[in-house]
Amino acid sequence: MTDQRLRQIADLLTLKADGLYGLSDITQRQHALQSAWLAERLDCPDSLIAASLLHDIGHLVHDLGANPAEAGVDDLHEERGYEFLAVWFGPEVTEPVRLHVAAKRYLCATEADYFGKLSKDSVRSLSLQGGPMSAAEVAAFDALPQSSAAVQLRRFDEQAKVKHLETPPVAHFLPYVARCLRPAPDTDPAI
Ligand code: FE
Repeated sequence: MTDQRLRQIADLLTLKADGLYGLSDITQRQHALQSAWLAERLDCPDSLIAASLLHDIGHLVHDLGANPAEAGVDDLHEERGYEFLAVWFGPEVTEPVRLHVAAKRYLCATEADYFGKLSKDSVRSLSLQGGPMSAAEVAAFDALPQSSAAVQLRRFDEQAKVKHLETPPVAHFLPYVARCLRPAPDTDPAI
């Protein structure tokens, strides 16, 4: 039997992800698939492939419209995504998702050429999100257990905006997600 949680995730990505990704020419689904595919091709752990696929799911679970940043609203999608996923996954999946916006602010503070790699909407949302990190924020970020996974996810995020790129479908990536799910609530892990 398919895990209901997996089905819910598959439904979000297949039925609810046709909206455009920010100001780009690709859909939320294409962006998710391109992110996960980058992680898969680099042989990243299952958790980072799953996190890459799911990192923007917070955009799909609110009613603020497709591009609230355009109206000057930060939809806090990293927090929404984290809260949605934290019931089902451990920190190896949820922390890179929660931190992927902070990782943009981190990279803009620590790599001189990073700002130039941002898309137009990422630049716009950066100011809503607090701009590049201060030195103290960089040090605090470095100390977090999942900071390097979050930075890696962020790099995929930046690259996963290619128009007309063919990727494997959602179903191809679901096994990675399935392997990261916590034991189903109705199973006793002690048995
Ligand atoms: Fe993204």
